[in-house]
Amino acid sequence: MDMNGDLLIRGGTVVPMERDRHWLEGDVLIRDGRIADILPLGSGTVTAETELDARGAAVLPGFIQCHVHVIQSLLRHQADGLTLLDWLQHRTLPYEAALDGDGVATAAELGIAELLAGGTTTVLDFGTTHHHDRVFETADHMGIRMISGRTHMDIGDTTPDALIEDADTSLADAEAIGIRWHGAADGRLRYAVAPRFALSCSRPLLEGCAGLARNHGWLLHSHAAENTDEIAAVRAATGLSTIEYLETVGLTGNDVVLAHGVHLDSTQVQILAETHTRICHCPGANLKLGSGIADIPGLRTSGVLVGLGADGPPCNNRLSAFHEMSLAATLHGLRSGPTALGAWEALAMATRDGARVLHLADQVGTITRGKAADLVVVSLEGWSMIPGEDPASRIVHGGTAADVRHVLVGGHPVVVDGRLQMVDPEAIRERVIEASLATRSRMIQP
Ligand SMILES: [Zn+2]
Repeated sequence: MDMNGDLLIRGGTVVPMERDRHWLEGDVLIRDGRIADILPLGSGTVTAETELDARGAAVLPGFIQCHVHVIQSLLRHQADGLTLLDWLQHRTLPYEAALDGDGVATAAELGIAELLAGGTTTVLDFGTTHHHDRVFETADHMGIRMISGRTHMDIGDTTPDALIEDADTSLADAEAIGIRWHGAADGRLRYAVAPRFALSCSRPLLEGCAGLARNHGWLLHSHAAENTDEIAAVRAATGLSTIEYLETVGLTGNDVVLAHGVHLDSTQVQILAETHTRICHCPGANLKLGSGIADIPGLRTSGVLVGLGADGPPCNNRLSAFHEMSLAATLHGLRSGPTALGAWEALAMATRDGARVLHLADQVGTITRGKAADLVVVSLEGWSMIPGEDPASRIVHGGTAADVRHVLVGGHPVVVDGRLQMVDPEAIRERVIEASLATRSRMIQP
């Protein structure tokens, strides 16, 4: 596709997400990778060198997921029926220990292919211990916008030896990777410092992670308060609740994104709100691991900024923004009634709020003139999409990743008519089969 001239997304229902319950029929003009104009129907004829058809479809900001693990993709459908700590000990950590460089790259390819094909254009991604450059190389050539970091673990009786490192060694490696990749691909790739969670990191390591991130102005990304056994273990080890402990090591603040926050008391919610610490809600993973239901309406009311994420392919088992939006917009009715969190709020969490969580709101998250042209065109013609007018209800309660027609990142079409543009899907499928068998053959069962 010729990308030298203007690009026009023609004839869609444009949902800018600058505010709720607002949409218009029209075209979106893209120039030099940015949104140049939004042209309401009847405002005159514009032509462009390249046009993408959005008739019968909604044009939205690309979806933003604030917590995924693309390197876990080769373990998908092989870790069902477990709670968090068993899932980690018996499946996920042995899998990560068995990954070689090609396994990391192929897993990342699979995860990113699914994300882009499902309309997710930006992710905050959690890596593994080794070969993290391969994640960035893959994200670079596939065209996704990604903030990612290699993980840190220096303690844990049940963690494979291959994943346990001396704190200083892992911090030096993270710094080198961050310097190589933060700001690469015209700023599309960024680094985040990613200690795994309180139970797999010593206090000096957590403090070192906080210091490293703040020296460079990088985000901090970790897991917290996902499961009651985890919380009891943190309290046994530290004498504190999880968020109180994280605050003592520097892991709260507006540059910290914590996945989950399922089990929090009012003191911990207050700490998150006062420090502007971000939470990523992962309802699909929380349900599948039986972890619980985070009080997202309560967190939002308390002033905590919340994004959405699918977490890892072995605990979901999909990386679909649609699945997470649908769960977020239905699940909280169990506790707080059906008005607790509606379709517009879920769509905002997956777009403009996600951008704020990641400090990218000046670049992405809404369809606004001058912002990067990260866009998703979602067909509204599927059987579950009709009739009705409200595009948020149709997409959140009726849509699936299969309804995605076109996807652009920074003005580059990465999906056109449902087909990935930057890669050969059949070649990825072949590599996935091969790499998953090779990784499985190296997995040691503890
Ligand atoms: Zn996770």
